[in-house]
Formats: sequence, structure tokens, C-alpha cells
Amino acid sequence: MGIGVLERYRDLLPVNEETPVFSMGEGDTPLVRSRRLGPELGCADLFFKLEGCNPTGSFKDRGMVVAIAKAMEANSVGVMCASTGNTSASAAAYCAYCGLTAWVLIPKGEVALGKLAQAMAYGARILLVDGNFDAALALVREFTANNPITLVNSVNPHRIEGQKTAAFEIADDLGDAPDYLFIPVGNAGNITAYWRGFVEYHQLGRTETLPRMMGFQAEGAAPIVRGAPVANPQTIASAIRIGNPASWKPAERARDQSGGVIDAVSDDEILEAYRLLASREGIFGEPASAASVAGLIKMRRNGLDLRGKRAVCIITGSGLKDPDMAVSSTQADTVEVKPNLEAIESVILESLTPAARNDWLGG
Ligand SMILES: *Cc1c(COP(=O)(O)O)cnc(C)c1O
Repeated sequence: MGIGVLERYRDLLPVNEETPVFSMGEGDTPLVRSRRLGPELGCADLFFKLEGCNPTGSFKDRGMVVAIAKAMEANSVGVMCASTGNTSASAAAYCAYCGLTAWVLIPKGEVALGKLAQAMAYGARILLVDGNFDAALALVREFTANNPITLVNSVNPHRIEGQKTAAFEIADDLGDAPDYLFIPVGNAGNITAYWRGFVEYHQLGRTETLPRMMGFQAEGAAPIVRGAPVANPQTIASAIRIGNPASWKPAERARDQSGGVIDAVSDDEILEAYRLLASREGIFGEPASAASVAGLIKMRRNGLDLRGKRAVCIITGSGLKDPDMAVSSTQADTVEVKPNLEAIESVILESLTPAARNDWLGG
């Protein structure tokens, strides 16, 4: 049974006697070794951290469980967030579990269907905002500053605290930090959280090394790469469609202190990685998650030598979040057949090589 991040890492989290400790099964996500992409890219030791395996299908649950526990500790009546989808899904689920109200501000028409479905099913109060994520976050910040409702975006420090536990898990699983950590960057809370987690473990002597943090924004939503906010961010990867990241400065510190990079990948590169990840590794991440793998592929093309290095790509959320994207962007290998065995056999035979077909018919 998963004990959850509050219990497992309570000594390293803001948990005291007054903090309720509970879990919906977040954390302890799989670290899966690559069988095909890693070797093909000259990186024998490549792993994927499957954050889509969290209870609501994204890493947001790690931070949300801490933020909600602290909101309960403070006797908050409810929580509020702006969201590209996953934060609202997570807030809604934890509020349902704890009996709190979740008010979620969602940019109208910009949220993937699966995420909207979750907020609805978990019973959040949904406010559709006629504006983008950055505008919605500005509203939430101002509203919660003046009202007794807890803000649960990643500007809430408890969110970052919870999310750093993913770095602890990677270090616990590998026995040390990896050489490189590839991660998508949107509001930049997660890259900040991972870096904090690795630094804390290093200071505690639980790891010998620190990773280089390799963050990737989408080209049309790359304010950190460009060095200026993007007024109208555009990308198919809706979870990182953010033009003015709240954790901009800490993300730059993570990059600089670790000797890493924050770079951009195009939507085409994201989609290529999204398809490769699913069809060659059996990992169905959402488009934003594929930015980590797109970044790895781009760095390899630009000459980064990963021989003898250990790398981890963070797969931040489940591909099921955005079913429209899967259906519209992949060429499905389907064929209609009559409901009889001959029809099925002829399809199988067609797809075999001539030699295999001969064996089949001969055997
Ligand atoms: C929130 C999210 C991101 C971006 O994380 P930030 O902390 O905003 O940088 C990436 N991928 C998925 C699936 C997300 O839900």
C-alpha cells in the first residue's frame, strides 16, 4: 500500500503535530528503464519517471496533498487555483477527499477534455475565464490575497515542498542523483521543486552528486528562453502554455546552479517525441510531458554526449488527459474486417514478410 508523500517524507516536509497526514496514493511512481529510445540515442542509462501514475494522472498531486493538508491545518473553508487543467483536477480531487470546496479558474476553451472532465466529476466549482492562464492566475493571486481562501497554485510554497519528493524518489531508486534531468517547464514550479529536492538530499549526504537540470519550454511559450514574458503564448502542449511563469527566477537559479539549460522545443518536436514515447516505449504521456523527451532528442542532435551518463526524463502527466490530441495526431493502424477467421488470417498474412508468410503457410 502506498503510504503517500506526507508520511514517507514527513521529516523533510512542513508537517507538524497539527498537520493532518493522509494520502490518496500519490507519489512512489515508477522509474522505468528505457529499452529502445535510450540505446538509440546513445544513452544506455535512460529512465522515465511516470508521474501520470499519480491519483489524478499528473505530478500535481504531490504538491496538492501538502497544500491541502496545510489548508486543513489552517481551517480554510476552501481553495482556489488558476489552471491549465491538471492543477484544477488535483485540487478538485483532494478537496473532494477532504470535504473542502475547490474554486478553479480555467481559461475558456484552452483546457484538454480529460482534465475538464475530472474537475467536473470531482465536483469543483468551475469558473471559465475569458482569458489565458496568466490572466487567470493574476486574478486568483489578487482574490486570495484579500479573502480567506487558500491559493493552491505553485506560488503556494507547500506545493513546491510536496513536488520535491519526486527528486527524493529518483535518488532513492537510483542510489544517487542522475547526471541529467530532463523536464518540461510551464509555470516553472516543478523544475524549482526537483532542484530543491536534489539539493536537500545532497546536503543530507544521501546523494554524492547533483544532476544538471535540463528544462524545456514550448517554442511559442518560451518566456525564460527569450528573456521576456510572452503575451499570447501558443503551443499544442496546453499544460505548458504559460507566458509569464510564477517561478521564473528560481527556475533560472536551478539552471545556473546545476550547470543545466532551459531551452525551447517546437510543437513538431513535441509531437514527434509524444509519438515515439508511446509507440517505441509503451509510455503514453500528455503532449507537455513529451517536451522532456523532445528536449533530450534535441540536445543529442546538437551534440550532447550521453555515453556513460545516467539521464531521467520526467513524464509529467498521462496521455489520457488529452484524448483529442492522440486521435488527431497519430496515424492509427486500423483495418475493417468481416467477422470471420479467414478475413482475420488474410490481414495477418498481409503484414508478414514473404519468408514469414511461407513459414506460416508451410507450418
Ligand atoms: C503543470 C504541468 C507541467 C508544467 O509544470 P510547471 O511546474 O508549471 O513548470 C508540465 N506537464 C504537465 C503534465 C503539467 O500538468
